[in-house]
Amino acid sequence: MRLVLLGPPGAGKGTQAQRIAARYGIPHVSTGDILRGNVRSGTDLGREAQAYMDRGDLVPDDLVNRMVFDRLGADDARQGFLLDGYPRNVAQAKELDAHLEAEQQSLTAVLRFDVPFDELARRVLGRAAEEGRTDDSEEIVRNRLEVYRTQTAPLETFYGERGLLHAVDAVGSIEDVSARALAVLAGLESRS
Ligand code: AMP
Repeated sequence: MRLVLLGPPGAGKGTQAQRIAARYGIPHVSTGDILRGNVRSGTDLGREAQAYMDRGDLVPDDLVNRMVFDRLGADDARQGFLLDGYPRNVAQAKELDAHLEAEQQSLTAVLRFDVPFDELARRVLGRAAEEGRTDDSEEIVRNRLEVYRTQTAPLETFYGERGLLHAVDAVGSIEDVSARALAVLAGLESRS
């Protein structure tokens, strides 16, 4: 399974990513988590990325692409992986395609987690207090949602045209949403 999860901030992607990755025994590769780890430990990458992250803007593609391809080169990702938060725009998606093609690999599926827009802002702002993320203030949240709409949402068409996109209704309990996502993937497995 080589999976990409798409969904705006607040769609519960991270939680679902962990569950799906555990189910298939594949690494959960979250670019947001890797970037935050770099910021915390003060690496060069973290220093370069921090200002973008604090504004809710995308970190430059070349930094993120390199970081992801490096991670996908690790042994545990050879049989599959789940990308959470990457790609975030069409340029990254094209780079990912080229990278996988060079490795004679391809994506199995892209799952899009759907939540009505007005519920998203509420969910993301609620998370600010819980996790103390510096990019969860109201203005930044609005920017992150806008960045998703303008830069990331076009990936739905990009992957839709390739027949890879599957929508998952992400309203409901964590268990319900997981069950829907796993049902989609089980359907793909039975086809292959
Ligand atoms: P996330 O936890 O996925 O919401 O990511 C948190 C922040 O990390 C984003 O707001 C971006 O600043 C940065 N980030 C994460 N993934 C990417 C990516 N694929 N491309 C560019 N920036 C990213």
